[in-house]
Amino acid sequence: MPQTSERRALPAGKVTFIGLPFDENSSYLRGAAEAPALIREAFRSESSNPYSEGGIDLSAPGLLADAGDVAPAAGETMLIGVENAIDRCLRQDLHPIALGGDHAITYPILRAFGRKFPKLSLLHFDAHPDLYDEFSGNRLSHACPFARIMEEKLAGRLVQVGIRAATAHQRAQAARFGVEMREMRDGPVRDKLVFDTPLYISFDMDALDPAFAPGVSHPEPGGLSTRDALAVIGAIDVPIVGADVVEFNPTRDRSGLTAMTAAKLVKEIAARMLETLPLLLRA
Ligand code: MN
Ligand code: MN
Repeated sequence: MPQTSERRALPAGKVTFIGLPFDENSSYLRGAAEAPALIREAFRSESSNPYSEGGIDLSAPGLLADAGDVAPAAGETMLIGVENAIDRCLRQDLHPIALGGDHAITYPILRAFGRKFPKLSLLHFDAHPDLYDEFSGNRLSHACPFARIMEEKLAGRLVQVGIRAATAHQRAQAARFGVEMREMRDGPVRDKLVFDTPLYISFDMDALDPAFAPGVSHPEPGGLSTRDALAVIGAIDVPIVGADVVEFNPTRDRSGLTAMTAAKLVKEIAARMLETLPLLLRA
């Protein structure tokens, strides 16, 4: 944990929210497009406070920006719109946390990141490997983004955490791309994940057990606790240069718990980004 003096030295305005309200590439249920507004609302809710567990007051002026939502679009226009919006953030030296949206948005996000960070590692939390070559004839499906990302070599390394729904095809794809799959059948990740390049975190809410995050399109029992996930994120000691939180489906979130959990993850990821981004300057 950083000392108080380091906290005061955090760079101003380096992390920004950006809403990506798209769910046309969801294979089973729509609804994730409604999530960004609800994550923002839960993030600001007075039911909690703006401090991260490590002591950063995220309401302090200049720490967090908000680039708003990318305008509605579909197909190729959506891909280009997302890539350009993320590229604009990066060119302003803002590090985005994208609020999804379904997981299809991670591919165009990484197209922008791949240009700026040629050596990027990816940490992907998910019940599913999302490595299908195509799903129901759609190569942009939310079941495919990491196949596209690895084909285009947009990341040097892909580590997956929370996996418990891998098919034979996806295992073959993982072997083909050299994906490091940490499966739930081996238990939650307890060791510190070691990275030696800047890191991007993609967090699919269904990585968590449905007990902790019921509001998802593909609930898969036997998942991570919220604490398991926060422990993995908190132990990262390389610069976290961007992130997304995806697949929260408000139509399935009767209690509002999943919105709060998504907001908690956004808060702790933002705080860890602010703590680790200064390492980029020293590299
Ligand atoms: Mn996913
Ligand atoms: Mn998933």
